[in-house]
Amino acid sequence: MRRLPKTKKVGSTRGFGPRYGSTVRKRYIKVITELKKPHKCPNCGFVRVRRESVGVWKCNKCKFTFAGGAYTPATKLGAVARRAAKGMSVEEATKEAAKAEVSEPVTEEETE
Ligand SMILES: [Zn+2]
Repeated sequence: MRRLPKTKKVGSTRGFGPRYGSTVRKRYIKVITELKKPHKCPNCGFVRVRRESVGVWKCNKCKFTFAGGAYTPATKLGAVARRAAKGMSVEEATKEAAKAEVSEPVTEEETE
């Protein structure tokens, strides 16, 4: 007898069943996979950064701990805030961030 796989493309939403609707579950998968994968450390460059808590990221290589986004270590909004804190005007920083947008994955939730 041929065995069928227990889960199809539900990913990390297994256990949710048919609840919350397919759009919400798809968005959840996108955010959670980004959250769970190891990220690059801004201090030593190794891909060993994991999320410690909401907005707190820690590198397992050099023990560097830093503040970032809730689901990704770097966000577009965070980059704007950092540049604004350095003395650049918010308008200038926003323009800079828009240019850098191409390479930076940002979740929809954070831009709202
Ligand atoms: Zn590191």
